[in-house]
Amino acid sequence: MPLQQNLNNGLNFSGGPGALPAAVLAQVQKSIMCVPEVGLSILGISHRSDWFLGVVTELENNIRRLLGLDKSYHVLFLQGGATQQFSMVPMTLLHGKNKHPEYLHTGYWSGKVLGEARKETNPHVLWSGESDGFHRLPANDELDFSADAPYLHYVSNETVEGLQFHRVLGRDDVPRVCDMSSDFLSKPCEAERFSIIYAHAQKNIGPAGVTVVLIRDELLQNMPDNLPGWLDYRSHIKAHSNYNTPPVFAIYVVLLVTRWLLDDIGGLNAMNTLNQRKAALLYEALDQSDGFYLGRAARTDRSVMNAVFNLKTPELEQRFLSASRDAGFSGLSGHRVIGGIRASMYNGLELQAVEKLVEFMSTFQKNESSS
Ligand SMILES: *Cc1c(COP(=O)(O)O)cnc(C)c1O
Repeated sequence: MPLQQNLNNGLNFSGGPGALPAAVLAQVQKSIMCVPEVGLSILGISHRSDWFLGVVTELENNIRRLLGLDKSYHVLFLQGGATQQFSMVPMTLLHGKNKHPEYLHTGYWSGKVLGEARKETNPHVLWSGESDGFHRLPANDELDFSADAPYLHYVSNETVEGLQFHRVLGRDDVPRVCDMSSDFLSKPCEAERFSIIYAHAQKNIGPAGVTVVLIRDELLQNMPDNLPGWLDYRSHIKAHSNYNTPPVFAIYVVLLVTRWLLDDIGGLNAMNTLNQRKAALLYEALDQSDGFYLGRAARTDRSVMNAVFNLKTPELEQRFLSASRDAGFSGLSGHRVIGGIRASMYNGLELQAVEKLVEFMSTFQKNESSS
C-alpha cells in the first residue's frame, strides 16, 4: 500500500509534536502492520522480547555514536516527558548541604522547570529575562556562576520565545544540567561537558511518549535511597530502560530517526548545516521585509529551531495565519501564551518547506501592500 500523500505533512511547521522525515514515516507505516524481522505489528511486540532488547541497545549505541559519548554516561529512555525530569533532577541531586542549585529563567519552559524545582528546594535564579518579556538571553558578563552550587540548570532552546544559547554555559567544576528538548540531536552539543542532558522525543527525534536522559555515572554515587522506584534513575539503569513497560512504539520510531540521522543525513554536523540553512533563509526573509515581519528574539540569540515573529497588528497576523492555512501550511500559530507566528524548523522539516514558506510570505506582503 502506498503511503498516503498528504501535502500538509511536508509543510508542518508545528512547535511540537514536530514533523518527522518522510522516509521514517514510510517505515513506521509498514511497521504498524508488520516489523519485517519479527512478523508482528510494532504495536503488539513484547517489551521483553529479544528483538526489543536489541532495539534499545541499538538506539543507545546510535545516540552514543551521534554525540561521541563514552561509558561514563548512562543513556535512558523514560516516560513522563521532559516535565518529569523537572522534578527528578532536584530529587536526585540535592543530597549535599547546599540546597541552592542555580537556574536560569530565560522563557516559558525554564519557568515551568523552576516551578517544579521550587517544590523540592530553594533554587537560586541566577538571571531572569521575565521583566524584559524574554526577548533575549543573558551575555556572559551578566552571569556570575557560583562554585559551590550543587548544579546549574538551563534550557538550551526556549521553544516558545525562539531563543537559543549558541554556547555552553556554567563552570566546569559544577554539574551542568540541561533541558535540550527542542534542539537535541539537531546539532553537535558538546555533550561530554554536561552531567545530565534530557530531551523528550517529540520535537526533533520522534513521537511523544519517550524522553532521552543522559546521566553521568558519578552523579549517582550520593543519591538519596528513599525515592520511589520509578523516580530513581538507578532503577532504569539496572533494568536497561525496561523497568516497567516502556513505550515500545515511541522508542522504535526514535531508533528509525537515529538511523536516518546516521545513514541518510550523515551525522550531526551535516544535520546542523541543513538546519542552519533553513533558519538563515527564514530570518533573511524577516530582515528583508522592511519591518513587515518583525523577529521577536534578539539577533544573537535567535533560535535555529523556532523562528518567532510578529506582524504589525493582531488582525494582520490572523489574516496571515488564515492565508497560510489555505496555502497548505500548518502549525504556524505562535504559542498560546505569547501569540504571534512561530515557524518551527525541526530536523524532519525539509529545506524545500522553508523555501515555500518564504515565497508565501513575500506574496502575502505584496498583496497586503497593494490592497
Ligand atoms: C516542549 C518542551 C517541554 C515539554 O515537555 P513534555 O514532554 O511535554 O513534558 C519541556 N521543555 C522544552 C524546552 C520544551 O520545548
